[in-house]
Amino acid sequence: MMTPDFLRQRRGPLTRDLVQTPGHFGLGQVPARLKPASTTTSICGYCATGCQLKVHLDEDGRAINLSPATHYPVNLGMACPKGWQSLDPLDSPDRGTVPLLRDPSGTLQPVDWATAIGTFVDRFRDIHRRHGRDAAAFLSTGQIPLEEMAFLGCLWKSGMGFLHGDANTRQCMATAATAYKQSFGFDAPPYTYADFEESDVIVLVGSNLCIAHPILWQRVARNPRDPRIIVIDPRATETAQSATLHLPLKPKGDLPLYYALAHCILRDGRIDPASVARCDGFDDFAEFVRGFTPESVETSTGIPAATIENLARVVSEPGKRVSWWWTMGVNQSHEGVRTAQAIINLCLLTGNIGKPGTGPNSITGQCNAMGSRLFSNTTSLVGGHDFADPSHRRKVAETLDLPLQSIPSEPSLAYDQILEAAGRGEIKALWIVATNPFHSWIDSSRLAELRENLDFLVVQDMYPDTESARVADLFLPAAGWGEKAGTFINSERRIGTLKPFRQAPGLALTDFRIFRLIARAWGCGDRFERWTDPEAVFRLLRDTTLDRPCDITGIDGYDHIDRCGGIQWPHPAATDPDPPANERRLFADGVYCHPGGKAKLLFSEPARLPEAPDENFPFLLLTGRGSSSQWHTQSRTARSAILRKLCPAGAFVEIHPDDAARLGISEGSDVTLRSRRGEMTVAAYLAPTVQPGQLFLPMHYPEVNRLTHPSFDPHSRQPNYKACAVSIRLV
Ligand code: SF4
Repeated sequence: MMTPDFLRQRRGPLTRDLVQTPGHFGLGQVPARLKPASTTTSICGYCATGCQLKVHLDEDGRAINLSPATHYPVNLGMACPKGWQSLDPLDSPDRGTVPLLRDPSGTLQPVDWATAIGTFVDRFRDIHRRHGRDAAAFLSTGQIPLEEMAFLGCLWKSGMGFLHGDANTRQCMATAATAYKQSFGFDAPPYTYADFEESDVIVLVGSNLCIAHPILWQRVARNPRDPRIIVIDPRATETAQSATLHLPLKPKGDLPLYYALAHCILRDGRIDPASVARCDGFDDFAEFVRGFTPESVETSTGIPAATIENLARVVSEPGKRVSWWWTMGVNQSHEGVRTAQAIINLCLLTGNIGKPGTGPNSITGQCNAMGSRLFSNTTSLVGGHDFADPSHRRKVAETLDLPLQSIPSEPSLAYDQILEAAGRGEIKALWIVATNPFHSWIDSSRLAELRENLDFLVVQDMYPDTESARVADLFLPAAGWGEKAGTFINSERRIGTLKPFRQAPGLALTDFRIFRLIARAWGCGDRFERWTDPEAVFRLLRDTTLDRPCDITGIDGYDHIDRCGGIQWPHPAATDPDPPANERRLFADGVYCHPGGKAKLLFSEPARLPEAPDENFPFLLLTGRGSSSQWHTQSRTARSAILRKLCPAGAFVEIHPDDAARLGISEGSDVTLRSRRGEMTVAAYLAPTVQPGQLFLPMHYPEVNRLTHPSFDPHSRQPNYKACAVSIRLV
């Protein structure tokens, strides 16, 4: 089988060409006249791995190059292509440099900031006055620093008096957050990256680590214990090809598989009694999984009973350290929360938690997804508090100096519910900040319809040509990574700083500055008097965490974080002021965050696929990350010539060669994919890595979400991007 040129580069050695070390694009390539005069550091602004980058500045203070920080405990001198090329999107000639306002003829026209902010305030005020606090919403992101996301959430609710706002973390991490919160009593990923290096068995579930988190795959490669690497994934991904064992699961067959593993472990008495004693619900769970024999789930999982029996022994072997890691294959599911909790249950049953090399570990997606979960003031009240708890509201109001009555007693509608309300005409205005839902939201054609129902759409972004910005009434040009200060929290709960080392172009402003302008124009500036700059806000937010599981009251400020190589939460005031740069995990003492200190074993009957293949739509479509050089909707990565060269120029679909032969589809031919919601034409790539009857599409192209099915996990409201029914035919 010939591999077309546009894909051959993608199929090369798995990580050698994806992970660059100093020397590939390093200072050796910098012309003598640009030899750096100084450096600064910043956490990368793409994924939640949280690599620290060294920014090399010339004598005039201009950034001329980047290299990975060699001593940062996360990336240890490595970065993936996106990190190396982080400067390119900033220099793009099509940055937004001036506010744009749609005129009566429908054209976006440049305006000054006074007009832009005045229009913003007038329109939202009018909607609030006529329709109330539920009639508008913001949609934000895990890509901005936590100081900015907290400012947005507090301004919106406690300043402007609206209720609803959500972030695109709903699209990637809501499932993990909900699962941890229900099981442990707090949204607390228990692990540290060192666990990759200290496990005897590493189970990767729905996670193509080589592509999505290549630096973490390098941490796996550093493991000196010769670990068994087990990949559970419908596709033979790059990671699966490098594993000890690949289990080609039927899509969404995870839940019965994990219940069957629990069945075998309980049947054979391979539990850790001390760990089980720290759980509520053991008897009910044991009774529930009694019926999940390996034989009974062969059909739903596609995995032979003997393989399940063997896997059960491997993940419960006494004395072995077993860690489970999951990403979007679990989270983006119609029953993601229960699937994540089935993994958590296996770790609790076998005592694989709170110890080196163990854990039920969710790897987050965006650079500040963890920050969003704790500080965005959307689902949770800032600092990991609950809106519904009067004592939490009082504490946050006093700490942030906000009127108590300005703190709502309920959380926002979730992302999908906001859009549904917009579709019904109940939400009349949206403020989209640093995200691109007209591309990324599931069943995206629906957004075009509901746009017609919106009286006012504001998009605040670096670029005025994203799918969302193009249809806005008002565009606010924002600074990007490298042009602002703040902090991110990575997957292992490590807080790191980002630094401004250049000015945003033209009239673009930091999101922080835009929020200040709006607060003043709205007339609530006095409530945010102390929110003068990102570090001042960090200290305010820090103080809200007192006595919460995420207590960081022991952090002085940004210098302290830098001095320690990032600081993992918790870091309460009473602890060593300079924690070792290395790693800390949660629950080593077996005490969880529920009242009483026990974890909960939670479970439900597996649900049916929301949209199974049938006669008219006989294929199951899977979506996922395409390459290490592409990020989400490509609004930034597509602006780097180097990153563009490292991935296919256009969308393609992977199809099993047997299916292709049956349908007369050959390598590179154009095919039309159709679902009940839309269609797209792409090139076909014959890939034995997908199973017969399944197709795989990289998610980075705008047409992809015209096909996806709008179903959601009932607990987390996270969209189920990973499985819908489609047809395919040769064009
Ligand atoms: S994108 Fe992720 S893996 Fe790549 S350099 Fe940035 S933080 Fe590291």
